[in-house]
Amino acid sequence: MDSSVYVFVEDLRGEGVERVLDRISAYGVAGVTVGAVHHAARDVTPHGLSRLTIRRDGAHLVPPADLFSGLRLTPTAGHQDALDGLRAACTARGLKLHGWTVFLRNATIGEAHPDVSVRDCFGDRGALAYLCPAHPDVRDYAVALARAVARLGVDSVVAESLHFTPLKPQRSFVPLGPMDAYLFGLCFCDYCMRRATDLGVNAEVARDECARIVGSVLAGDPPAQGEVTRAALTAYAGPEVVAYARARSETVTTLVSEVASAVADEGSKLVFVDSTGAVKGYTDGLPTPGLAAHDAWQLGVDLVALGDLVPAFGVLAYARDAARVADDVGAYLRSVGKDREVRAVLRPGFPDSDSADRLVAKARGAKAAGAAAVDFYAYGLMPYPVLERIPAALAEVKG
Ligand SMILES: [Zn+2]
Repeated sequence: MDSSVYVFVEDLRGEGVERVLDRISAYGVAGVTVGAVHHAARDVTPHGLSRLTIRRDGAHLVPPADLFSGLRLTPTAGHQDALDGLRAACTARGLKLHGWTVFLRNATIGEAHPDVSVRDCFGDRGALAYLCPAHPDVRDYAVALARAVARLGVDSVVAESLHFTPLKPQRSFVPLGPMDAYLFGLCFCDYCMRRATDLGVNAEVARDECARIVGSVLAGDPPAQGEVTRAALTAYAGPEVVAYARARSETVTTLVSEVASAVADEGSKLVFVDSTGAVKGYTDGLPTPGLAAHDAWQLGVDLVALGDLVPAFGVLAYARDAARVADDVGAYLRSVGKDREVRAVLRPGFPDSDSADRLVAKARGAKAAGAAAVDFYAYGLMPYPVLERIPAALAEVKG
C-alpha cells in the first residue's frame, strides 16, 4: 500500500532535508508530500526551529517565466530554494515526492487584486484570502501554478483548495445556522453569476434571496436549524438558490479538468483533495453526520464528474472513529469510481488519534474500504512520539 507523510518547507528548513527524510524513511513510509505552495498560517510546531511557526502565503519554487509571463496573477514568492535537492534526496532513499499545492487560498494575491476574490450576496468582498474559481485570471493562475509544481519532478501534484470555500469568519456573535452560513459563503461575483445564468439559473433571484435570508438573521431573526442538505436548503431558501449552488460545480469541474490535463502534460498526475472532510472534523475529529463524499457538492465539487477526469483523490479522514474513516473512504470510491486511486489522509495524533492502536484501526479501516494509500498529516505539527505511531499503522496495511 502506498503512503506518505505531509511535510512543510519550514520543517525542511528547520531540521534539514537529510534529517527529516531519514526519520520519515525509518517509519517505513513510501513518500513525502511536501508543501510546495502554502497559505499563511501560525502553527504550533513541537519540534520545529521555533515552537511557533509563522507561515506566509508563498510558492516555494522559482516560477518558470514561460508559464507566468503575461498572466496578471503570479505566485507569491516563498522560500524559493527550500526544495533544492529534495527530489534527488528522495530518490536516493527510494522515496516518492508529491507536491502539495494550495491553489485558491492566498490572502496576499486577494489583497493585491480584490476583484479576483469571492463576493457575497451583499456585494461585499470580505474574504479576500479566497480566490474565486470562476474568475478567468484565477483559472489561468491555477493552471500555470499546477504546471510549475509538476516541473519540480514530483510524482503527483496534490491539489488543495481548488474549489469554492465555506465562510470562515474569525469572529461571529450572531448565531448563524449551518444553512445561513452556507448561503453567506456563496460567491456572487460577476463571473459566478454569468456562469449560473448560462446554465439557466436566475442568478439575481438567487442572490437577492440569499441576501434576504442572511440579512434577516443578521438583524436578529432566529437562525436556520439543521445541517445543509439539498432538501433542507430547498425548503429554506427556495429552488433558485439550490440551482445556483449546484451550478457552481460546473465552474469547479472545468477548472479541475484543465489543471489535471496541464499536470498530465508535464508528466505528473493530479491528486484532488477536497476540503469537505476538514470542514467537518478539523477542530475535534468529530465530523458532522453526512459523509464527506455526500456533502462535497456544497463546495462545488461534483465527485461523480471528477471521477472521469482526475486519476487520484485524497480524502481528509479527520475523524477519531475508525468506522467513520472506512465509511468516508467507501463513499468516496462509490462516487469517483472503484478504479480510481483514493488516498486516506489521517492525523496520527490529537485530535483524531489518542493512541497507536487507534491509528492502526483507522489505517486498517481505510484499507478494508478500498483506499490505495494512507497519508499522514503532518510532520511538523505532530510531536515525535505521535509520528512514531506511523510504523505500526503501516505494518497493519503492508502488502
Ligand atoms: Zn465568483
